[in-house]
Amino acid sequence: MNVIAAGVRRNARIVVKIGTNLITDRLAGLNLERINSLARGVSLLRTSGHGVVVVSSGAIGAGAAARRLKERPRSMAEKQATAAIGQPILMEAYEAAFRRHALTVAQILLTREDFAIRGRYLNARNTIAVLLENGVVPVINENDTVAVEEIRLGDNDTLSAMVANLIGADLLIILSDIDGFYTDDPSRNPRAEFVPVVEAITPKIERQARKTGGESGTGGMATKIQAAKRCMSAGIAMIIANGGNPRILQEIVSGGYRGTLFLPSAARLSVKKKWIGFVSHPRGSVRIDAGAEAALTLHRKSLLPSGVLEVSGEFAEKDTIAVLDTAGNEIARGLCRFSSADLAKIRGKKTGDVEKILGRRSGGEVIHKDYLVLLGR
Ligand code: ADP
Repeated sequence: MNVIAAGVRRNARIVVKIGTNLITDRLAGLNLERINSLARGVSLLRTSGHGVVVVSSGAIGAGAAARRLKERPRSMAEKQATAAIGQPILMEAYEAAFRRHALTVAQILLTREDFAIRGRYLNARNTIAVLLENGVVPVINENDTVAVEEIRLGDNDTLSAMVANLIGADLLIILSDIDGFYTDDPSRNPRAEFVPVVEAITPKIERQARKTGGESGTGGMATKIQAAKRCMSAGIAMIIANGGNPRILQEIVSGGYRGTLFLPSAARLSVKKKWIGFVSHPRGSVRIDAGAEAALTLHRKSLLPSGVLEVSGEFAEKDTIAVLDTAGNEIARGLCRFSSADLAKIRGKKTGDVEKILGRRSGGEVIHKDYLVLLGR
């Protein structure tokens, strides 16, 4: 089944944000092997027709190594000087890595004012558009040298979300040293649980994203959640995934990836649906009867437990699953409201009995129509 059939335009615009910890080895400088594998991933996205913009941190790390500093610079002036030394070293590494894939890179340095002043905003947008049209990979960073404290964006998570808005991106991929968003910082709390899909940024989620990240990273999870908020309200999907996996970009685009997907807000439902079909890899499936198939395909209704004949695979609540007709053909995909274990208990049952069987309150639908994408045959 070609998931592109679910309606995502083939030539998507994708912003890839690369975190500090991913490409710098503390004070030892840039991790060239990592930069090479990321460049390879980006080049594969390009050859499959997507326009890609990179937002990369790492200038201070590269500069600190060049200056043989014993610790990361602390004062603003020291940081800016170190970034000024590191930025060309960073670009040199990207230039060399992308050249192996016959791709040209372009450096763009932005400040908050470039987004606030309309003339500059339009100019930045036009420049990036021309670069993308010409098959160039823009590599963006904050212009640290001129950005005094008051006008600093301060972290590249925010910058990448603003760039995604600027270019009208379909997807922002934040690559970090962690595979997604957890209910707490897993490096401090071993009981933190992985969250595969986030539909809305609630105060609880904001609390779960602690401020601190790694010691050299600037944002941690808090700025990533704010970036998600910005993207979701603009109809842009966002994924946090681990850039340590050299195949992560291909896996995201083909659908079988580990990462946290932040869905565009309800006001952009069609966009959200598109992304369920495009970026979510089904973790399991349900086979449904002919009546349910007609309800879904002809009447655009939600899938109810009574129409489910069989449950396959192991999945959790809110995982994406495939919906199969009686013959086993995939006809739709959607976010399932029940885990596979619960669904096995309520399959074929009346909606009114679900609460009694599971012993807890729950919405009646297995897949709500707003979270269901028909694939069409
Ligand atoms: P980057 O340099 O890639 O932007 P950071 O180090 O700034 O990355 O942020 C990622 C770190 O945030 C993780 O390694 C983790 O320790 C921390 N973190 C804090 N809260 C959470 C959470 N709820 N889920 C996942 N990671 C979290």
